[in-house]
Amino acid sequence: MTVRPEPEERSDNPVPRRSVKRVQTRRNGALSRALAGFVGLSLLLSTVAHAWGAPGHETVGAIAERLIAGRRAEAQVRKLLQPDETLQSISIWADCAKGYCGSLTEELREFVHKNPRHAHYHYTDVPFQAAAYEEGGIGTSDDDVVHILKQCIAVLKGATDHDANPHGLTAREALLLLVHLLGDVHQPLHVGTAYVSDKGEFVVPASAAAVDNVLIFNTAGDNDLIFESQSLHAFWDSRAVEDAMRHAGVRTPAEFAAFLMRAAPDLPIVTGDVTKWPAKWASETLGAAKLAHAGLSLEKREAAENRSGETRRVWRVSAPSGYAQTASALTATQLTRAGYRLAAVLEAVWH
Ligand SMILES: [Zn+2]
Repeated sequence: MTVRPEPEERSDNPVPRRSVKRVQTRRNGALSRALAGFVGLSLLLSTVAHAWGAPGHETVGAIAERLIAGRRAEAQVRKLLQPDETLQSISIWADCAKGYCGSLTEELREFVHKNPRHAHYHYTDVPFQAAAYEEGGIGTSDDDVVHILKQCIAVLKGATDHDANPHGLTAREALLLLVHLLGDVHQPLHVGTAYVSDKGEFVVPASAAAVDNVLIFNTAGDNDLIFESQSLHAFWDSRAVEDAMRHAGVRTPAEFAAFLMRAAPDLPIVTGDVTKWPAKWASETLGAAKLAHAGLSLEKREAAENRSGETRRVWRVSAPSGYAQTASALTATQLTRAGYRLAAVLEAVWH
């Protein structure tokens, strides 16, 4: 059900890509001319940082770390981590599996080998206009962030059967994924994505089959929407977090965690059956995704080049004034929720 066949193209990178892909000069005729105007754009697209970048994920880990300190959950977590690891430090492990942190460790290589679709685990592509995350709905898949979170929780609770743990995750892998994906499921554009018609309008596809990338396009978590000089996805992953940290007057994820924990969190959805929480969080995040798309206008359609040198369509968007402030405030809320909920899951597993 996941529409985009190239998960590696999903912007989900905690590390700014400093090595700019050199635009090939051996192009011919019309394609060359067509691309000439997009070179600057393609360079920009290939240099941005992605995914609740490292600071966002690390903040989530740091909040949970403080909340479980001295609790049984902390002792159980410690058994699964190396002595020099913390929830904060392992929060980007799942992104490192995609090669964003340099060469893969032996453990990451093994994980990637066992999980060829691991890049899909970080998101789901529900139309942002949808009221709720629904099993089997447009943009969902069996390997999306909601399903993998459920599997991580089940594994940490001791499940070993194939239905509950289809990817054969170890308890350690389940914890490493859980910490990261708890952050991702709170990033508005990792849950609610824009679908755009060939007429350049936001649309809700009638069915998954209608998303043919001819008449209706999946913008892949808004990676194909360009806001200012980067993708809208990257804006929410990184710029919104940076702005929120600057407004808080903090420099590190640990400081940001302490800042966010000063206020009592607005925190529904941490009671009842823990395995049902991820779908409810995703539905709540759709509300945030609606805010993230409020007032956006699609402008002209352009072509950009992806890392494989293929062209893809992108749309420039303009946002209402105050959009960046709204984004940074919402980001602070979402990171706080993610951190508290991560702790709540760990407490629910090891109460
Ligand atoms: Zn991610």
